[in-house]
Amino acid sequence: MSRVFLLVIGISLSSLPFCSAQLAVGEKSVFTHADTLRGSITPERAWWDVLFYHIHVTPDFNTQIIRGTNQMTVKIVKPGRKMQIDLQDPLVIDTVYLVKSGKKKKLAFRKNGNAWYVSCPSLPVNSAQIVEIVYHGKPRAAVRPPWDGGWIWTKDKLGRPWMSVACQGLGASVWYPCKDHQSDEPDSGAMLSITVPDTLMAVGNGRLLTSTEPQNGKITYTWKVVNPINNYDIIPYIGKYQHFHVDYAGEKGNLDCDYWVLDYDLDKAKEQFKQADTMLHCFEYWMGPYPFYEDGYKLVEAPHLGMEHQSAVAYGNHFSNGYLGKDLSGTGWGLKWDFIVVHESGHEWFGNNITTNDLADMWVHESFTNYSETLYTTCQYGVEAGNDYVIGTRKNIRNDKPIIGTYGVNNEGSGDMYYKGGNMLHMIRRMLGDAGYRGLLHELNATFYHKTVTTQQIESFISQYAKKDLSKIFDQYLRTTKIPVLEYKENSSTLLSYRWTNCVKGFDMQIQVSVGGQPQQWIQPTEEWKTLNIPASQHKADDSTSLHVVSDSAGTRSPADSTNTAPNPGMERIFQVDRNFYITVKKIG
Ligand SMILES: [Zn+2]
Repeated sequence: MSRVFLLVIGISLSSLPFCSAQLAVGEKSVFTHADTLRGSITPERAWWDVLFYHIHVTPDFNTQIIRGTNQMTVKIVKPGRKMQIDLQDPLVIDTVYLVKSGKKKKLAFRKNGNAWYVSCPSLPVNSAQIVEIVYHGKPRAAVRPPWDGGWIWTKDKLGRPWMSVACQGLGASVWYPCKDHQSDEPDSGAMLSITVPDTLMAVGNGRLLTSTEPQNGKITYTWKVVNPINNYDIIPYIGKYQHFHVDYAGEKGNLDCDYWVLDYDLDKAKEQFKQADTMLHCFEYWMGPYPFYEDGYKLVEAPHLGMEHQSAVAYGNHFSNGYLGKDLSGTGWGLKWDFIVVHESGHEWFGNNITTNDLADMWVHESFTNYSETLYTTCQYGVEAGNDYVIGTRKNIRNDKPIIGTYGVNNEGSGDMYYKGGNMLHMIRRMLGDAGYRGLLHELNATFYHKTVTTQQIESFISQYAKKDLSKIFDQYLRTTKIPVLEYKENSSTLLSYRWTNCVKGFDMQIQVSVGGQPQQWIQPTEEWKTLNIPASQHKADDSTSLHVVSDSAGTRSPADSTNTAPNPGMERIFQVDRNFYITVKKIG
């Protein structure tokens, strides 16, 4: 009897939990010139490199108008006269200055959609220049943050103003002018000054540098990060915040942990955010030191579910475990910890420390971070609990389109970058062993420390580290929607054959199987038939239904069920594929 385990579960888009803004906005198959301007390194972007942003923003809660400046320090890397600045409609650039020795010289500019072209004088190559952009307007208001983002104008439970921004995927140019491309992070960090009514507190990334004396009922808070930062991670939080501080004894010494929450949530936060301690402990063990000691670690209560804002992670999970009280794996393990504390903080290593140049390669952010949930579960509850969790999340995989998106047009691939990407990494962890996988994560975070990367760099690094060409695994799981099928057949009572089908050419992923109840062994199927001996003790049990695959790609267990049992315990268990491999198994003949 042929047993094919296919996962066919209808999932509506709205039920899928993503912390990635682009996915819910809608999919594009045709890209516009504006997409290219936004998503590629145009000649008008290529001749200068951002060193530092100093953004100053003053929002008016009543009119929903913001006024601001961004003083950009840029390095001239080659000759150029036309500078592309991104600022999205309906915001307007008022003036652009070149600032030299404190003196400001106006520069001419013109608009082309969301791109603005500034005419610059000839500037010496390798020099650092300051360009100041003055802007204002009513920014796009968030529709359903963080997925459909923009500026968030809301009120807390006591009716007091509460403001923030969510703009991942949509882009930081929705609220401030910048070079809105992931490949160019300000090398020396960023400063964010926020002017607010003196009854409110404003929190930003990194450390609080200064706050002015109240003047005409207003205070300006200035925050600063000294490390490179993604544009979409620079975020103001404005509200009736209070805060508490915890010293964390980490791998690089003392890490300042600061927790900013609305005044009435302080007690709940003190209890729930104890998980940040266990998260840091687990993640430093698996992935290496927290990448931004200089800027500290923060969780900041946000008027949306959450986002990985570097050193000021947005938190909106209502101080309870799970993902808005749900378990994404359906195994029970996901209810034992706070999804937003774990997932969004995991991005500090993958997403913030290591950032992809192009949105198409976002799997590097989301797959590794998704898998950090499994590592956290493993840390806290053991290896089998972690396995249960990652296997449980397979029910969310859609296989609708490839995980890697279209390059150069600000396009993300499939939301499968979460659960399918996590399951791919789980298999790589099996191949490397736990010490090997842990070493890999440490090496990745050290080698690409504070860098932007391509998927090729990450894939090659993993293959080199593994001393094994894993490129076909990446091609299969990241660039196709096909799940490889392990076909097998009985040749005789003593011999079975197996091969890969439904796969990319040359696919040869190793998997773990056990034959006839023997200990697990690694086999490396290819597209050609290979054979395996069936141990003699199993021969007499042989009949047409004696060959059973008991590991299916959809199999999951509850936390209480700790054994990997066959679907029907009465059947022989001659051929078992380890459940940790996300593949389909099919008996032929
Ligand atoms: Zn994420």
